[in-house]
Amino acid sequence: MRDSNCLFCKIAGGDIPSQKVYEDELCCAFRDIAPQAPTHILVVPKEHIVSVAEITESDAALVGHIFAVIAKVAKAEGLTNGYRVISNAGPDAGQTVPHLHFHILGGRPLGEGLLGNN
Ligand code: 5GP
Ligand code: ZN
Repeated sequence: MRDSNCLFCKIAGGDIPSQKVYEDELCCAFRDIAPQAPTHILVVPKEHIVSVAEITESDAALVGHIFAVIAKVAKAEGLTNGYRVISNAGPDAGQTVPHLHFHILGGRPLGEGLLGNN
């Protein structure tokens, strides 16, 4: 189900423009508007799911598919030297858009620390 007030539902549905790099019936991938690395892509389900915290067993096929798409998109972007996948869930993680999304970050060394700051 789409949420008519949700930014990423609107982007996934094509109502708000974005630089899409991949799309199928279940999900799409588009460039982040404020990239934090040379390659910064968001992969989102077309279905409105708030965050990782809302995923249930019934989403298993969808989530598995999204991760296969992440691998495909990273390969298509030429991220052969590695990349990071991040999903922020809730206020402590700094989630700003309440629609499940996976950041693909790459194109430069991101550091060994999980948060890139150590
Ligand atoms: P979060 O902070 O929720 O993990 O990530 C939200 C991401 O969405 C941020 O990296 C932000 O730059 C990106 N973003 C916010 N609004 C838009 C938009 O309208 N278009 C695109 N392409 N990205 C957006
Ligand atoms: Zn949504």
